[in-house]
Amino acid sequence: MALLETQGLTAFYGDFQALFGVDITLDAGETVAIIGANGAGKSTLMRSMSGMIANAAGQVRFEEREIGALPAPDVMALGIAMVPEGRKLFPSLSVEENLLIGRYGRATAGAWSLQTVYDLFPVLKERRNSPGTALSGGQQQMVAIGRALMSNPKVLLCDEISLGLAPVIIRDIYAAFPKIRAEGASIVIVEQDIGQALKVADRLYCMMEGRVTLSGTPASVGRDEIHAAYFGAH
Ligand code: ATP
Repeated sequence: MALLETQGLTAFYGDFQALFGVDITLDAGETVAIIGANGAGKSTLMRSMSGMIANAAGQVRFEEREIGALPAPDVMALGIAMVPEGRKLFPSLSVEENLLIGRYGRATAGAWSLQTVYDLFPVLKERRNSPGTALSGGQQQMVAIGRALMSNPKVLLCDEISLGLAPVIIRDIYAAFPKIRAEGASIVIVEQDIGQALKVADRLYCMMEGRVTLSGTPASVGRDEIHAAYFGAH
């Protein structure tokens, strides 16, 4: 039984249809990557699973419970935390205050606390009194991940965490993932870098124009297949 799954998920922005019957599953302990070009619908899928946008049709099930109609705070309270695209830190708050925001709505005891987040990303401890905006892009991304972990989530949804970051920083951030998994979180990452997605994921889905065009394990999908699913067969 999947921990989190969507079935026939459909989403609109006004009259514009962004998702067309998307089916994905995430099992407990898994890391699943969603890849696809700009505008494929990856962020929309993440927003639908985290309650940030309403689904027009279809289902989102978490621990066998239908959650598609729940607002974002209720979804978070159940244990699904989102690292949103663009980090969305509170600019006037310090690093530590931004991290503590993650506790609101789900103060569940677990592995993650200020101390363990600082152990994961030591630079955040050094910068803990700095405003979020005084940090580099990579450090801000660490805060966004740390803030999500502070709720001790069962599922971590990460939207485009490498966007705009230097390769060495991306490597540092991805180095945290095995530790996050070891503490029991299951992970969905949206990633435009196919190589990075293949490295980190147990399974991946490729999306194009609001539909899943390919799914499988990194070992089972070939480069050509991914290319066709990502860009379309022209
Ligand atoms: P990106 O990498 O650019 O974020 P994506 O795969 O995450 O791409 P989405 O952001 O989910 O794609 O966008 C899917 C489609 O929905 C795109 O055509 C986009 O223009 C449209 N869209 C996304 N957000 C909105 C919005 N708030 N209002 C209207 N249309 C939107």
